[in-house]
Amino acid sequence: MPTLQAATVALDPIPPIRWNTRLANALLGSDSLQRLTLALLGLAALVTATVVVLLGYAASIGVADVRQVGILTLLFFVFISGFYGVIRSGLNQRFADPTLAMPQTVMAQTLIAAAYAMTGPVHGATVIMLSLVMVFGMFSLRPAAVRLACIYTVTLMGVVMYWCATHQPELYPARQEVFNFALTAIVMLAISQLSGQLSDMRTRLKTQKIALEGALAHIKEMAARDELTGLPNRRRMMTLLQEHATRRARGGPRFFVCIIDLDHFKNINDTYGHAAGDAVLRAFATQAQVVLRTTDMIGRWGGEEFLLLLPESAPGDPTLGVARLRESLAKMPASPALLELRIRFSAGFARYEEGEPIDQAIERADRALYAAKSAGRNRSVVL
Ligand code: GH3
Ligand code: MG
Ligand code: MG
Repeated sequence: MPTLQAATVALDPIPPIRWNTRLANALLGSDSLQRLTLALLGLAALVTATVVVLLGYAASIGVADVRQVGILTLLFFVFISGFYGVIRSGLNQRFADPTLAMPQTVMAQTLIAAAYAMTGPVHGATVIMLSLVMVFGMFSLRPAAVRLACIYTVTLMGVVMYWCATHQPELYPARQEVFNFALTAIVMLAISQLSGQLSDMRTRLKTQKIALEGALAHIKEMAARDELTGLPNRRRMMTLLQEHATRRARGGPRFFVCIIDLDHFKNINDTYGHAAGDAVLRAFATQAQVVLRTTDMIGRWGGEEFLLLLPESAPGDPTLGVARLRESLAKMPASPALLELRIRFSAGFARYEEGEPIDQAIERADRALYAAKSAGRNRSVVL
C-alpha cells in the first residue's frame, strides 16, 4: 500500500544519504548520523572562515598583529581539522554525545573571543559570530548544556571586554564595551530561553511520532488480518503468493496453492445460526494453525474459503498436511458449542508453474476444488 509506505518514510528520523559519489563517501563516510555530525562541523567551519576573513582584514589595515592573526588562524584550522579527524575516524562514537556539540561550542566561543580582542575597529562583527555558534548549539545541545555554554560565553566575553577596554581603550572604548557586553548577555539569555522552548517542542514531536508509529503498525496489522479468524486476509495472502512467485523466478522453492472450502457450511448457518457459523470458522482457523507445518501459510480467502500456500521443501505428497487436518477435525467438535457436529471440507491443489501469473495457479486450485466437490466432498484433488 503506497500511502502507508509513504507515511513510514515520512517518519524516518534520519534523512537518507543523498550524495553517493566516491568523493562524498571518502570525505563524509556513508553513515547517515556521522554525516549529520560532519554537516554540523561544516557550519562551524563556515563561521570560522568568516572570522578568519575578519582577522585578515584587521591585519591588512594594520590594527591586528600579523603574527597573532596567523597563530589564531592556525588554531582555527587545527580545531576544525582535529574535530573532523575525530568524527571521521569514529572516535566520537565513544563519547556520550557523539556530535561533540559541547566541546565544539566551547572551542568556537573561546577562539571567537580571542578574535574579538584582535580585530580592533571591526571587533563588533565577531559578536554576531558568538550568537551564530550558540544558535547551532541550540539544535544539538540539551537546554541545560545551552545555558552552561551561554554562561561560559557571557563570562568569557566579560573578561575579554574588560581586558580590551583597559589595555586598548582607543580601539575598545569603555562605553562601547559596556554596550557590547549588555548586547551579548541579552542575546545569550534569549538563546537560553529559546532552547528550552525548542526542547519542549522536540519532546512533543517525539511523543507524537511514537504514537503515530504505534498507530501505523496497528493499522498495517489490521489491514493484513481477517477480523473474524485472526488469519492473514485475502490481500495479505495475495501479497505472499506474489512474493513466492517472484522468489521462484529467481530460483526459490516450488510451492503449491490450495483452496479449502467448508462442506455444506450454509446448513450450519441455517440450522444453528450465523454466530454458530462464525464460531465454526474460528475453530477451523485455530485447528489449521495447530496442525499444519509452520512453513505452510493459511489465510482466509473469503466466506468459508481458506487459501493455503505450501512451500515444497522436498518432493512428496502435497496433500499430507491437509489430510492430517481433516483427520484431526473428524475427531473434534465443530465448535465448543456444537459438540456433535464435525467440520468437513474439500480442498483443491495446484502446483505453481514457474513464470505463470499467480492467478492462473489460483484458478487451477479452484477447478481442483470444484472437482473435489463434484466427486462427493470431504476430499482433496490435485490438478
Ligand atoms: P458447499 O459444500 O458446496 O461448499 O456448500 P456450502 O453450503 O458450504 O456453500 P455455499 O456457497 O452455498 O454457502 C456458503 C455459506 O457461507 C453462505 C454464507 O452465508 C456463509 N458465510 C460466508 N461468510 C460467512 C461468515 O463470515 N460467517 C458465517 N457464519 N457464514 C458465512
Ligand atoms: Mg464457498
Ligand atoms: Mg462451502
